[in-house]
Amino acid sequence: MTFDEYQAKAITTNLTKQDQLQELMQQVLGLGDEAGEVLAIFKKWIRDNNADIDLLDKANVAKELGDILWYIAVVAHDLGVSFDDIATANIEKLRSRKERGTLTGSGDNR
Ligand SMILES: [Mg+2]
Repeated sequence: MTFDEYQAKAITTNLTKQDQLQELMQQVLGLGDEAGEVLAIFKKWIRDNNADIDLLDKANVAKELGDILWYIAVVAHDLGVSFDDIATANIEKLRSRKERGTLTGSGDNR
């Protein structure tokens, strides 16, 4: 499945029926909410399991990463941006940084 194929399927499960700005903000907030759910899993893993990798609930992390994927697809759709284009641009940015030795460091435009 391509990212665009996933995006096309993802938007069929978006039940939000609000005005455009409200829908966009609901999806952006949902993206942050799901990222927080990933962070919570890791926080509890450190707190309760002393960061023992064998005790990390990887299936739950994967489920939450899927939720993030859904929100990215829907936010991109709301903005009229192809998920394939996002993935392609991102990997090209990282390839270029690797080639130029700028994978480390800081700044969005390095
Ligand atoms: Mg979730």
